[in-house]
Amino acid sequence: KYEYDEMNVIAETTMQMSKSVKESMKQIEFEKLIRQEFFSNASHELKTPLTSICGYIELLESDMVHDDNMRKDFLKRIKKEAENMTNLIGDILMISRLETKEAEVTLSDVRISPLLNEVCNSLEPLAKEYQVTLSTICSPLVIKANEQQMRELFNNLIINAIKYNKPGGKVKVTISSEGKEILIVVEDTGVGIPKEAQQRIFERFYRVDKGRSKKVGGTGLGLSIVKHIVNYYGGSIELESKVMEGSKFMVHLPREQ
Ligand code: ADP
Repeated sequence: KYEYDEMNVIAETTMQMSKSVKESMKQIEFEKLIRQEFFSNASHELKTPLTSICGYIELLESDMVHDDNMRKDFLKRIKKEAENMTNLIGDILMISRLETKEAEVTLSDVRISPLLNEVCNSLEPLAKEYQVTLSTICSPLVIKANEQQMRELFNNLIINAIKYNKPGGKVKVTISSEGKEILIVVEDTGVGIPKEAQQRIFERFYRVDKGRSKKVGGTGLGLSIVKHIVNYYGGSIELESKVMEGSKFMVHLPREQ
């Protein structure tokens, strides 16, 4: 009987071990797939502006462009594409740093109100370009966080609220305290996000309207960076949105780490 019991225990343990090995393999395969997809998407996204840049340079080198205005226009386009590439590389580096977690994340007492003001002031020209008014309500709050990450979080949410808005539209940012958390709400009166896309917009490179996104620029990585940052602090993000009415992003962050 003793031997029989022991055999059973060994069989059970072996089965469990084989199950967890299988699960780990599956997880590794899944992560490999995600990484492959990310590299393939990132390469494609970098190749597109590069191809345009090469095309314009070839045209400028040829004898086909005599007009000075046309030459200036091509140079402007080259600059824009190069800027897109710089932004994309910046976002890819940001994601890689957030994922490897080896980044030295220094936490300090971040005063939210001046930081939000700084971000909004820097985005005023963009808001003007899109004919959008930007307003903020912010309690004098302090949060233990990394200032650069907080700036990135505000920037990405507010830039989207401006870019995916309508002329004459509004963006309202409200930051308040909720017990041990702070609540950041970024609301816009823009184009909204269809129900079926609401989960997917946090995926890397996912865009609802590829045409519009190309026109307004951006890397397709902004919200996945936001999600990473929110997760890093053990917070959460919710979204309410209605097509052609607007979107509301709500971020909950613990004040102390
Ligand atoms: P992008 O650089 O394309 O803006 P993001 O990751 O920031 O990348 O956003 C992913 C997609 O989610 C956008 O392409 C857009 O389709 C949609 N989106 C994000 N924010 C908003 C918003 N405030 N209103 C409407 N659509 C939005």
